Order: sequence, then structure tokens, then C-alpha cells
Amino acid sequence: MLVTKLKDKDTVASLICGKAFIINCHGCKEVGFPERDAAEFQRELESDGKVSGILTMDYICNPENIALNLSLRKDEIDEADCVLVFSCGVGVQTVSSLLEDKRVYAACDTYAVPGGQGVTPLEFDCRQCGECYLNLTGGICPLTACSKGLVNGQCGGAKDGRCEVDPDMECGWERIQRRLAMVGRLDVLRSPVQIRNYDNEVNAAE
Ligand code: SF4
Ligand code: SF4
Repeated sequence: MLVTKLKDKDTVASLICGKAFIINCHGCKEVGFPERDAAEFQRELESDGKVSGILTMDYICNPENIALNLSLRKDEIDEADCVLVFSCGVGVQTVSSLLEDKRVYAACDTYAVPGGQGVTPLEFDCRQCGECYLNLTGGICPLTACSKGLVNGQCGGAKDGRCEVDPDMECGWERIQRRLAMVGRLDVLRSPVQIRNYDNEVNAAE
């Protein structure tokens, strides 16, 4: 079981330069979504003229399902400077992987709560850390794509792009840097150091 909570609205709104294409996932029973808060926030963005379209569907973590729906809404996505996703971290990562040259942002943080995790697709992983970093990492999760779960850049041990802990995998932070370069957001690597709040995980159920 996991729950998503809306991030600070002003912080999220500040990421939108022109218009955002919004994606809501109302997918799985294992996830609690902040549907009322999200709808209210989206109405505010719409009244400010900051929305090019809204897609609400189930299971955006299913790559074929979301890819088909994104292709049907291409014009509205092209009109937007970014895509704002209201889902758990897996959904945001799935959308981000399909729109590599688009800025894809997480509108929610994802928290674990006790109980079974439900069926999680294998394509991407979210550790439900309670403080989603995807808006700073080009939509690639630093906790699961980096062997050490580093949130402030690479350790310096990668060789030929491979992780020093697990040479079978590509260095997650090299992937993150490439993605940030693709969407013109390398500036975020100069932002203040992220202090990870481990208390979020301990108190996730609150
Ligand atoms: S940073 Fe990673 S682990 Fe944390 S909520 Fe986002 S996707 Fe999940
Ligand atoms: S080599 Fe890259 S993925 Fe591996 S631990 Fe270091 S930063 Fe993380």
C-alpha cells in the first residue's frame, strides 16, 4: 500500500513556464490519491490559463496503455512546455521515459504505508521515499537508479558509464545528467544540496 500527497502548490506551479499537460492516474487500489486536492489545484491552474489538456486514466505505469493515450493527445502535449503528473513515482517515471525530450514533473510525493504493496510493474521502481526528487533528476529516480541511492550527484566511481557497485548497470547519475541536458535543465545540478528527510519513511503512515 502506498499513498500520494500533493506537493507544495506554489513550488509545483513555479515549474510551469507556459502551459502544462496534466496526467492524473486513478489506477490501482493499492494507491491512495489526493483526488480532491489535485482537482482543486488543477482548477486553479486552468483559471490561470496554464493547462493545455488533462488526461485522467487508470494505470499510467502500463507503458503500452499510457503510450497509446499520449499519442492520442499529442497536439495538447506539444502545446505544453511540460507534463505534470499526479501519480506515484512509478507513473511519473513511466511518462518521463516515453517523453524524453519533454519536462515531466511530479505533482505528488509518494509515501509507503503498512501492508502489501500490490502489483508493481517491473519497468520502474519507487522506494516511496516521501520526498520525490524526480523534478530535480529529469524524471529518473535517484534512489532506485543509483546503487547508493545518492540524491546529490554521482559518487565519482563510475567507469565507462557503468556503476562501480554493479557493473551490470549503467550509472544512474550519468543517465540523470543526460536526461537533464536533453530537457535543458542542467541548471538544477547547481541547486542547493538536497537534505534527505529519512523521517518521512519512518512516519509514512501519518
Ligand atoms: S524519488 Fe524515487 S523513491 Fe522517492 S518518491 Fe520519487 S520515485 Fe519514489
Ligand atoms: S557509480 Fe553511479 S549509480 Fe553507481 S553508486 Fe556511483 S553514482 Fe550511483
